[in-house]
Amino acid sequence: MSNPVRALVVAETSDGQPIPLVWEMLGLARRWADETGGAVHACVLGDGLDAAAVALAARGADRVHRIASPSLSPYQADAWLPDVCAVARAVGPAAVMIGHTPQGADLAPRIAFRLDAGIATACNRASWTAGRLEVTRPCYGGKAEETVSFRTATAVVTVKAKCFAPAPAQAARHGDVVAVPTVLDAASVRTRVRGSRRDASAGANLESANIVVAGGGGMKGPDGFGMLERLAVALGGAVGASRVACDLGWCPPGRQVGLSGKTVAPELYLAVGISGAGQHMAGCVNSKTIVAINTDAAAPIFRYARYGVVADCHALVPALIEVLESKAR
Ligand SMILES: Cc1cc2nc3c(=O)[nH]c(=O)nc-3n(C[C@H](O)[C@H](O)[C@H](O)COP(=O)(O)OP(=O)(O)OC[C@H]3O[C@@H](n4cnc5c(N)ncnc54)[C@H](O)[C@@H]3O)c2cc1C
Repeated sequence: MSNPVRALVVAETSDGQPIPLVWEMLGLARRWADETGGAVHACVLGDGLDAAAVALAARGADRVHRIASPSLSPYQADAWLPDVCAVARAVGPAAVMIGHTPQGADLAPRIAFRLDAGIATACNRASWTAGRLEVTRPCYGGKAEETVSFRTATAVVTVKAKCFAPAPAQAARHGDVVAVPTVLDAASVRTRVRGSRRDASAGANLESANIVVAGGGGMKGPDGFGMLERLAVALGGAVGASRVACDLGWCPPGRQVGLSGKTVAPELYLAVGISGAGQHMAGCVNSKTIVAINTDAAAPIFRYARYGVVADCHALVPALIEVLESKAR
């Protein structure tokens, strides 16, 4: 890394605060800037968001571009696009970093197209080699990974959660927060969000849970997931699932862990009736401790698990719940 690296982090928010993945992107951008004498810019869009802007500065942004307008909340791609592109053109970043969330995956390709920039999505590693950004991401359905670099002056990257160390909060750190007027012509926004509904199920906080109890094909049906919900409650965790379980409708799609689902890295990942396919493990391999329950001693999950039990989960899990619930009584 040699030239000063200027990065722009596009901050997604929830309940008025940046989502935790933003801290990971700021941590990465801050490290690049410190190592090269570069700078970290962040932009935050929505209604209000004063507190979010201050938090972004406290976590390492040198300059926060706060674009506040009721027309920017809730998120809509065609409403956000002109503003993010205007900030990017003003900043001239080597990297525009966006979280690989449904919102980020929707927005990033549009930004790359407008900026005539290269793009790589779902990146889980990133580095500068001889002044060029290189990012790594899974490919071939998670069976391999590729490292790509960019020929354009600006690279747009979407970043997977739980892959980078988050920037620490430094209450005494004050970045430069600038209020940027929206360039939006409200009449040109072609879609309108009519309403939204929060997922209140036990899987809703999957990415921030310290304990994840995940079920797969071995759960045999929705009743198996009822059993896992009880176990998750007893352990104070959240329920996750494999794609097989979600595709069969045994649990909501928002709980899917893996390559095409969520990435989690809890203290404890309890994989129940999950084979351990590479595409599933791509979403949980960074968990601190993986524990597996599976009837098949040769299941790949045991290669990842620190502790494993070869057993029928429909016999073992109720016994486990009984012990945990009786201890809590
Ligand atoms: C492009 C692509 C993306 C993908 N993305 C994802 C993804 O994001 N997430 C994901 O999970 N998958 C994903 N997959 C699918 C993945 O390849 C596997 O098919 C899937 O993970 C298998 O789920 P499973 O292990 O729950 O089911 P199964 O393969 O059906 O395995 C069930 C396991 O349960 C065990 N079992 C059976 N009965 C019991 C019992 N009574 N007690 C205990 N154990 C029992 C079996 O021994 C077996 O190991 C993707 C595939 C592709 C091609």
